[in-house]
Amino acid sequence: MLYTYPHYYKKFQCIASACEDTCCAGWAITIDPKSLEKYRHAKGGMKARLKESVDWKQKCFKQREHRCAFLNDDNLCDLYTGMGPDSLCWTCKTYPRHIEVFDGVREVSLCLSCIEAARIILGTKEPVRFLSSENEKEESCEDEDFDFFLYTKLQETRDVIFEILENRGLSSELRMAMCLSLAHDLQRRVRDEKLYEVDGLLKRYHNCTARFCHRLASAGLESYSRFETASELYTVFEKMEPLDPAWPERRDGMDEILYGAGKEAYEANRRAFLTANGTRMELLREQIMVYFVFGYFCGAVYNDNPYGKMKLAVAAAILVEELLMAEWLKENLPGRPENRGKAVSVVPSGIRGKAVAAALQEEQIVDLVHCFSREVEHSDENRGLLEDELVKREEFCLKALLAAVIEWKRA
Ligand code: SF4
Repeated sequence: MLYTYPHYYKKFQCIASACEDTCCAGWAITIDPKSLEKYRHAKGGMKARLKESVDWKQKCFKQREHRCAFLNDDNLCDLYTGMGPDSLCWTCKTYPRHIEVFDGVREVSLCLSCIEAARIILGTKEPVRFLSSENEKEESCEDEDFDFFLYTKLQETRDVIFEILENRGLSSELRMAMCLSLAHDLQRRVRDEKLYEVDGLLKRYHNCTARFCHRLASAGLESYSRFETASELYTVFEKMEPLDPAWPERRDGMDEILYGAGKEAYEANRRAFLTANGTRMELLREQIMVYFVFGYFCGAVYNDNPYGKMKLAVAAAILVEELLMAEWLKENLPGRPENRGKAVSVVPSGIRGKAVAAALQEEQIVDLVHCFSREVEHSDENRGLLEDELVKREEFCLKALLAAVIEWKRA
């Protein structure tokens, strides 16, 4: 079996009771069938505790005040203490590792939803490298239905996407736009069953910056705007079922702060936000894109929709930036906290008057990104909703997303 993982992967170590945001609270932990059987037949001291702490029907651990029934007051797991590490279910054993399964290959990454993993991922300033190692003892079971040719083309395309995303000689907006456009063009080849054309397509995306900028200039993006696309995306995000009970309170009012005062105020606020946080956003876009592309892009081998996977990455990068902007605006709104939740433009009477508005702190960024990932990545329904809307709705067509990605440069 071949294992592929990002170069920072082995830096992770769970900080357990020292973690300010234990992963054993705030969401239901699903139990895999094998562990469920083990718990059903448990003997000794834990038998009674398991009986009352497992929701046998829903196949998950019960919760008390939104905490796993086995999580004690010191934020340690009583199941682990009582029955040892082998007693943990698959979710608890593997989290925060995310494993994508392909024929003969396992792609392993860390999840941004774990705050300690998020610190590592977002603290990695250098371009991410991907390493591979072979585990000869582990045999892969061949799946006859696995489309190996498509998988190879997806991998080759992803390599080019990483090259583009990590080319820091170009602006992050342009890199995102190029990757979106490449995935769009790839989708056409997948749909028309012309995978033999993919090599030529990838060659065209090598060193094509000038040609691409020319295409972009004549693409007719003027009738689209970041304001419209981002606010639509945000509406989808708000429809998601909250996983963490504390999340709705934090999210409340963000849409009003971002979009309530209209397009002109939004654009002025965004310019102010980027003036204070532009350098960090430049790197953050790359980090989020690389993370989502590694985690999901090749999964298109199972649904034939690489463009949808790339849209998901772009949407995540846009939404994260919007949430961060809302947090920053909250801190910089004139008259805070009275104005919290009101539609305000910070520019006319607010931060323009200040010498320099403070940039977001790294811990704020890590915290908000990990909350976003928790809400979007750990619910099949929530991620499915976002993917579905991105694929089906005209508001998220190629031009709309391109305009959302590069608009502030045009403003
Ligand atoms: S969120 Fe991460 S660091 Fe915190 S307890 Fe869970 S795995 Fe450990």
